Amino acid sequence: MKSIILLSGGLDSIVALGGFMDKYNIELALTFNYGQKSAEQEIQATKKISDFYKIKQKIIKLDWLKEITKTALVSDTQIPTEDLDTKNSAAAVWVPNRNGLFLNIAAAFADAEGYDYIIFGANADEGTTFPDNTENFREYVSKVFELSTLKHPKVIAPLINCTKNDIVKIAIEKDIPLEFVRSCYNSGNKHCGKCESCIHLKNALIANNANKYINILFE
Ligand SMILES: [Zn+2]
Repeated sequence: MKSIILLSGGLDSIVALGGFMDKYNIELALTFNYGQKSAEQEIQATKKISDFYKIKQKIIKLDWLKEITKTALVSDTQIPTEDLDTKNSAAAVWVPNRNGLFLNIAAAFADAEGYDYIIFGANADEGTTFPDNTENFREYVSKVFELSTLKHPKVIAPLINCTKNDIVKIAIEKDIPLEFVRSCYNSGNKHCGKCESCIHLKNALIANNANKYINILFE
């Protein structure tokens, strides 16, 4: 048995890897560069994470994706720092069919190279705003792979019922190197502390008394 993980370098993907790599024998990380503002920082982070866990990594470029979307993640539009946790802010950072696309690419690797599972970091908090972070989505995509592949890889979202607070708690319990996390939507060397992703990470670190990581990660 062996597995692939979608590794963006954010909190959810590093904990999905560090927390479940033994259970699912995760051997390969796929990291996507679709021209997002933080691509370079995410790639640096995922390289460190893949080295730390001694797994293979492939970086996949999807240059065309940024050409068909105006999302603030790739365009000159500023990433929202106010009006967070609303439909507006979710729409501003929506990338067309992102998780659907990434999972299908992972399924092609699974089909070609014999991987049994595809792990991704969907979680309860993001599931409330993003439909492609839900159990329903996970289940449907797994079903599609029964028809679209010969290997029939199963999609697993081990954090699907966890909030960000729960995810930081798991990270601390399992000694996951949170100093390698890259969750920020912006391109600075350190986390901006103002975008939605930063605010959720910061709050979860504070809730778990993990302030030392705030000093390491944030501006
Ligand atoms: Zn940020």
